[in-house]
Amino acid sequence: MGNYGKHVFVLGAGASHESANIPLGKDLVWNYHVDCGLLVPYDNTGPDLREENENFTNYRKFLELAASIFPEFKSLPKKWDNRGMNVFRLYSRLEKRHYIDELLELLQKQGNKEGAKLVKYLIFEHIAQASFNRPNTSYKRFVKEILKIKRPQTTSVISLNFDCMLQEKEFINEVYFDYLINFDWIDHNRTQFYRCSNPIPLIKLNGSLDWGICENCGRLHLYYPFMYRTFYKNKACTKQQCGGGVTPFIVIPHEKYGEKINSLWNIAKNHLKDADQVTVIGYSFPEYDKDVIKLFQDSLNTNVRIEVVDKCQNDQKKKQTEYLKKKYMELFKLSIEIITLDGFSDYLDIQGNQADIRRTSNQKGER
Ligand SMILES: [Zn+2]
Repeated sequence: MGNYGKHVFVLGAGASHESANIPLGKDLVWNYHVDCGLLVPYDNTGPDLREENENFTNYRKFLELAASIFPEFKSLPKKWDNRGMNVFRLYSRLEKRHYIDELLELLQKQGNKEGAKLVKYLIFEHIAQASFNRPNTSYKRFVKEILKIKRPQTTSVISLNFDCMLQEKEFINEVYFDYLINFDWIDHNRTQFYRCSNPIPLIKLNGSLDWGICENCGRLHLYYPFMYRTFYKNKACTKQQCGGGVTPFIVIPHEKYGEKINSLWNIAKNHLKDADQVTVIGYSFPEYDKDVIKLFQDSLNTNVRIEVVDKCQNDQKKKQTEYLKKKYMELFKLSIEIITLDGFSDYLDIQGNQADIRRTSNQKGER
């Protein structure tokens, strides 16, 4: 980590995927059954799918929605009903236009509010269920080994992820975070550790699953971050006599959410402008993330040190190194330092080794 000034960490889907099995963008919702299906009991009459069908009610609705939008998926609901004991896999046939962010954009254009609500609800369900009881090792280490020893004044985190795996129960008293967004209501269990002392800015540009927005009055709620799959089912607004339903406040790239989220993008811009060092973990600036690319293009200064933490197969490393260097040069006119292509956990190992070396040499110096 060295003696650099302001340090911004950027967390992408790859970081959450490695730490807590959070689905990547391309798999979100579509792979829900593959990731979270049950082992179905079987007797003489066939598989007993009752519990599964109950758990995947919304997914069945989603398949109907997909069938109504994409002609190539017309037969999905029927296939689902006849899946028997099989895992329901659609993966190989998906294109970018099928991905959930594009689908949500389409639904919004069509004015299909119920459809958009269903998709957002399923994003939550899939992430909550896929990460349930997972070890979350990398984020735990990131908090304890890196963020804890950093000064909050010089460190911030920009996250592009919806999940709140950086907010684990055992991180309480280790590091506090500040979302830098105004909530109208905060769960009393959350107030015990939200923003307590010296919080580190955690700027979530796409919203967060623990932020709930009232569909009726726009009231923004902050919930306790450890949420079960059905958390948002029939969740009601806390405002007296409002009666609105609350959905997770998650924002798809193209969506304009007005002031609430725009202010966060401006804050991110300022943090990036001030940054001496930016470490990008598990994020690849895909072409379709135009707003994110523009944000970084408008903000990064020419002297910034960019570190990249990525993951690929061993035999792809040479190619990936060239690809990444070229990409950053083209997008930002910046050269980068690739710290590792072995992922988030290897980055943490490297940082740990460097800290050990520094400690040893400091001790020698003191003698
Ligand atoms: Zn309300």
